[in-house]
Amino acid sequence: MQPVLGIDFGTTNTSAAWFDKAGKLKVAPATDKTAVLPSVVWFPSADASKCLVGQAAKTQLVDDPKHTLFGTKRFLGRRYHSEYVSQHKDRFAFDLVEGADGYTSALIYGQMIPLVDVASVVVKDIVARATRAAGHPFSLCVMTVPAHASVRQREAVRKAAESAGLTVRAIVNEPTAAALFYANLRSPKQTVLIFDLGGGTFDATLLRVENRVVKVLATGGDAFLGGSDFDERVADRFATHLEQTTGVSVRQSRTVMQRLALAAEYAKLQLSRLEVVDVRVPVVAQRPDGGFIDLQKRLTREELEHLVTPLVERCVGACDDVLGRAKLSPADIDELVLVGGQTRMPMIRRRLAHFPRLSSEKDVHPELGVAVGAAILGRNLSRTNASGLSDVVAMPISVMLPGGRTVEVIAPNTPVPCQRAVVLDNLPPWSAPVPLMLFESLDQTSVDREVIGTVHVSEEWRTTPNVVPSLELNVGHDFALTAKLVAPGGMQTQLQIVDQRVAAHR
Ligand code: AMP
Repeated sequence: MQPVLGIDFGTTNTSAAWFDKAGKLKVAPATDKTAVLPSVVWFPSADASKCLVGQAAKTQLVDDPKHTLFGTKRFLGRRYHSEYVSQHKDRFAFDLVEGADGYTSALIYGQMIPLVDVASVVVKDIVARATRAAGHPFSLCVMTVPAHASVRQREAVRKAAESAGLTVRAIVNEPTAAALFYANLRSPKQTVLIFDLGGGTFDATLLRVENRVVKVLATGGDAFLGGSDFDERVADRFATHLEQTTGVSVRQSRTVMQRLALAAEYAKLQLSRLEVVDVRVPVVAQRPDGGFIDLQKRLTREELEHLVTPLVERCVGACDDVLGRAKLSPADIDELVLVGGQTRMPMIRRRLAHFPRLSSEKDVHPELGVAVGAAILGRNLSRTNASGLSDVVAMPISVMLPGGRTVEVIAPNTPVPCQRAVVLDNLPPWSAPVPLMLFESLDQTSVDREVIGTVHVSEEWRTTPNVVPSLELNVGHDFALTAKLVAPGGMQTQLQIVDQRVAAHR
């Protein structure tokens, strides 16, 4: 049985786990003390092959912020000219630009580096660490992605693993992987809500665990909410403090804002243990006359909690939505499982105290649970070719007709695999071939929807004059599309798909 490496490539941290020949669980060491590798890459020179990854790179975030990439997973698989990238790119000191394929790339020493390559560098590093610890190479892996990752983001993660020399056996949603880990701990029947708040995304996933098999009932969350948003709120508070005390405006400088965000994360981490922290960052900014400005600010846990209350409430609201969809209340949940580093914040546990039982950090490690779940999935697939889980579609799949009308074909939370049909009437006389655009989006009107591809249906389109047929579209969770015309008398004509340009399957 070939060992399969479970890899959780995260916005902030990356980890990997596997089962050794004796069936013992192992995790890849990132340092002497921890198994969590910061997803940070530093380029000391224009020779991109000489980059450093992890803790060694993280220390450069202050000294060389222009050449130290972190949090780039937030932009991976996203078009440069998307609302999300436009809104967020200027918060980082490094430069993001449009790559040749329209997707976001980093610009380092004037050289364009696709974010897939940055991801691949991090994946390669954790694989090398796992290889050293295991004493043998890995060729197979299971990769994890946030539940709301679009097909492009899934493909980017797959490519990153492939260019690190791995064959990807499966791509699994992070909360589902955490649930597999959980299912291994508890054998009886349980209804569980996974609360997964990492560095870049929040997923709330409701599932049923029965005899170690995981069935996802519903999933929701917020693809744009994570620990770094908590840091930003605090960094903003620090910026206001600097502006008020020095009269110098600091917000236009991306380097200063990045330094403040780092100081904010440090303060946030401390305030998970302490009630008060004194933050001091020397030479954080410069005065117009050339003098230096230091940041010196006391922050209390209470102040931090006040600043991030709206974010925590967004998480709680998303949980309520997921439960509401399944017509359940917190009292029906056997255990709320906390994963993702940000759930270490005491306020999160306190705010979720209305759930009868919260997981303990001893049982489900917030940062490693996802990688371990991926390793469990890898082991299940190797042993029996059965995954031990049934998942749902997180992002609805819709079709846009010529003229802009959109129709949702597969609703969110439909169990996978699935295929759904829609029948469209009263269509105008389009000329063939008719382009039908398939897309994924959490929001039908969002400009950020992820186009999967365009399918053209053939010449038979409306061959009989004066007869207005209906168009029946059939779409699978893997984006396979078929179309047929249904005449008023019931006669059906299958339409040929003349040009199917869609992204690779999930
Ligand atoms: P993950 O992606 O699961 O590694 O989570 C990373 C996020 O968790 C980052 O935003 C960290 O700042 C945050 N985090 C990690 N440890 C703590 C802690 N003790 N208290 C609050 N936030 C934390």
